[in-house]
Amino acid sequence: MRPGVYEVEMGTALDVVVDELGGGFSHPVKALHIGGPLGGVVPLGMIPELAVDFESFSRHGFLLGHASVIGIPKDYPMIVYLEHLFEFAAHERCGKCFPCRLGTVRGQELLHKARAGGYVIDGDLFESLLDTLERGSLCGLGGGIPLPVRNALQYFRDELEPYFSKLQSAGHE
Ligand code: SF4
Repeated sequence: MRPGVYEVEMGTALDVVVDELGGGFSHPVKALHIGGPLGGVVPLGMIPELAVDFESFSRHGFLLGHASVIGIPKDYPMIVYLEHLFEFAAHERCGKCFPCRLGTVRGQELLHKARAGGYVIDGDLFESLLDTLERGSLCGLGGGIPLPVRNALQYFRDELEPYFSKLQSAGHE
């Protein structure tokens, strides 16, 4: 890979950015997290479907955001990644509104307990948490964290399923 800052025309195919400018992957990667912590978790299979523009990402359920690109290694557990996202949001929250002030911490706790073993997250409860964050948060931090989580639940269902009951609901499928 050639990490760096690249300026491209809006509408440039994402695989041009990843393969031609970025030089592909030096290690196995299973997804790209594009657009910052609140951006979309894009599985490798979706890269050819996307162009670098807001509409393309939005149409496919992702978010271009500020267009940063981070590779999630193939052997990095997605449950740990999701816990880290909630940890980020809980750390960055200002505390002004209840959905985000409480919800980001509860999300981190649920994912941590499930990852540690002996606890299965109720999918309905988790979906309710994501919905509350989306609808009730005052700003984009609390309101935005569900999007990458939903992407992961949709595209990495097999990997995440053991940590949830009723994942179908949580994944919005
Ligand atoms: S959603 Fe925004 S306003 Fe509400 S606690 Fe989080 S950071 Fe603060």
